[in-house]
Amino acid sequence: MQGVGFRPFVYSLAARHRLTGTVGNTSSGVIIEIQGEAVGAFIDDLRNSPPPLAMIDSIAIEDMDAKQELAFVIVDSQAQPQASTPISPDIAVCVDCLREMFDPADRRFRYPFINCTNCGPRFTIIQDIPYDRPFTTMRAFPMCAACEAEYHDPANRRFHAQPNACPVCGPQVSFDSLTRDAAIQAAIDALRDGHIVAIKGIGGFHLACDATNDLAVRALRDRKDRSAKPFALMARDLHCVQRYAHISGDEAHLLTAKERPIVLLRSRDNPELSPALAPGNKYLGFLLPYTPVHHLLLGEKPLVMTSGNFSDEPIVKDNDEALARLATMADAFLLHNRDIHVVCDDSVTRVFETRELPIRRSRGYSPMPVKLTRPGPSVLAVGGELKSTFCLTRDDNAYMSQHIGDMENLETLAAFEHAFEHFCSLFRAEPERLICDLHPNYLSSRWAAGYAAEKKLPLVRVQHHHAHLAAVMAEHGLDGRAIGVIFDGTGYGTDGAIWGGEILCGGFDGFDRLMHLKYVPLAGGDASIKRPLRMALAHLWSANLECELGLSPVELRILRRQLETGMNCVPTSSMGRLFDAFAALIGVRETVSYEAQAAIEMEAMCEGVTIDRGYRFAIENGVFDPAPLFKSALEDVCRNIPRAEIAASFHHAVADLVLRCCEAAREGTGINTVGLSGGVFQNTMLLKLVTEALTPREFEILTHRKVPPNDGGLALGQAAVGRV
Ligand code: ZN
Ligand code: ZN
Ligand code: FE
Repeated sequence: MQGVGFRPFVYSLAARHRLTGTVGNTSSGVIIEIQGEAVGAFIDDLRNSPPPLAMIDSIAIEDMDAKQELAFVIVDSQAQPQASTPISPDIAVCVDCLREMFDPADRRFRYPFINCTNCGPRFTIIQDIPYDRPFTTMRAFPMCAACEAEYHDPANRRFHAQPNACPVCGPQVSFDSLTRDAAIQAAIDALRDGHIVAIKGIGGFHLACDATNDLAVRALRDRKDRSAKPFALMARDLHCVQRYAHISGDEAHLLTAKERPIVLLRSRDNPELSPALAPGNKYLGFLLPYTPVHHLLLGEKPLVMTSGNFSDEPIVKDNDEALARLATMADAFLLHNRDIHVVCDDSVTRVFETRELPIRRSRGYSPMPVKLTRPGPSVLAVGGELKSTFCLTRDDNAYMSQHIGDMENLETLAAFEHAFEHFCSLFRAEPERLICDLHPNYLSSRWAAGYAAEKKLPLVRVQHHHAHLAAVMAEHGLDGRAIGVIFDGTGYGTDGAIWGGEILCGGFDGFDRLMHLKYVPLAGGDASIKRPLRMALAHLWSANLECELGLSPVELRILRRQLETGMNCVPTSSMGRLFDAFAALIGVRETVSYEAQAAIEMEAMCEGVTIDRGYRFAIENGVFDPAPLFKSALEDVCRNIPRAEIAASFHHAVADLVLRCCEAAREGTGINTVGLSGGVFQNTMLLKLVTEALTPREFEILTHRKVPPNDGGLALGQAAVGRV
């Protein structure tokens, strides 16, 4: 991988063992030639403690004849114009750099762009390959003599560190007319005084404010037009996070990892924090500082750090753009003069049973490839609509893009096109085939169709839930067949209905739909998605149950008429919508302002609740019917059973359903491997119950660890299917 300091590492290791020889890059890896006494110890060290950012796939060793040589040297890498080599993601500032930054005697004391071979920006500043300073946005900053000397000294920890810089020659921060420490201090003061500050970072702008200042947090919600979706928080260190959230060992590990994702943690409900941070949510998303600027800014109090954009538009990256587009949201700007070449939002992740369960795979992870089981044509898979990412394959590497956003507007489409061109040039790939969703009206599908026509390339359309199944198989390197339990929000089915509660059986070459959730009418499409109460009525209507819920007589009459006539209704088997409907029925929430809000709140509600019995789906002829769940729940509501218990019974019913479906599918197909995917599987309560149900029956369970179960992982599955 480029930009991880492998050659200088080998150089110093060879020096330590008093070996002579050479190290150089080729397109297929690194070639080391060594001779001397301690060759064995050298190989052991290389194997056991490689440099922090490198990943060694394999080491092949060959003997050769002795040579006349006196030193160990790094040989220049030959530029191979068509070679494709992975590129390092952006990496959080390392401890060595931090030590220097806080050392008053160091020439980089309090310098906000300190970095080294082991840390700093990579992916977001690289404009072209090979990864060399002239092909990065650091080109604008010629190194001073001191930096130049470090850069050329193989024994220095900044040898060939392309973004190497110092206060004399490198980028600078600014705040109005202030620069350097005065600018940082002005930003600290503004935040302390309750202002909202736009802060330019690595992959784009953040909007920041004091997380303990309720007025500031509410003002940020208003200005961003974001009513309830949780804000991420940045805290100085683990100690500080601990005051506000529970942290397991695995969560601490993720929080401090070099990728520095936002980690969803169980809140301690500390009253110091503004209640407007994550209303109705028992989880808080925390991340630790990952740029030197963050380390200089953060004090005792955590900051809200939300992406610098308005509503669903892409994150802002350029200074001029920020001053224009964030003007109505930010009171002040902490800028810097190093350009960001591509935007890259923060990643979001959570822990499920000691393993990472990605929610949004972006900064720190992208563009690390997912290894595919076999080489194939280079393809571009464009993803779905929400939480969009794309996937570009070359050889056996699947390069998943950073988070692009919801592909519903032209700004996001423009960001998509820019990121796509960036990937093509970084990985020297030219897609031979385009892959998109079956949905004819997705902006991504329409773009793919247009691009394919323009370039005269074949276009493959992949059914949404088939792609989810393929995604979880691909990331586990399984190239056979599996049972797919795909519980999702919405996806276009082969019969024109909206699918989302699917038991599939298949592989990359195709799939069968074995079972599905009973169709109910989705009345008015989006209207029912934003208002789960309408979904609840649809389910009650379908189950022949009478309940007026909290609907007004007018709304009730219109809706019933719509359900009876089927006017403006699409049949749906969506499991996400079933969760919504059930949450609305038991009064969790009637309307939602972001995807899965009702389900998330219902999940939070039943944590720690034990029940002696769950509800039970009726299964007949491959269709599972939730009517008995609604009937039992209505009875339980009348009997004043606590809502938390009803919610828990619902989760148990879904887990029991998965077990029954999987056993039937195994009997019918002889397949024992079960892939769990789709947005509903971000729900760790459900994942836990399903795993507990399947494990004793000896199913092999595949859950997501590398890409998200939601539509952020869809492109990987599309690519795997479309390459066949
Ligand atoms: Zn460093
Ligand atoms: Zn310098
Ligand atoms: Fe989906």
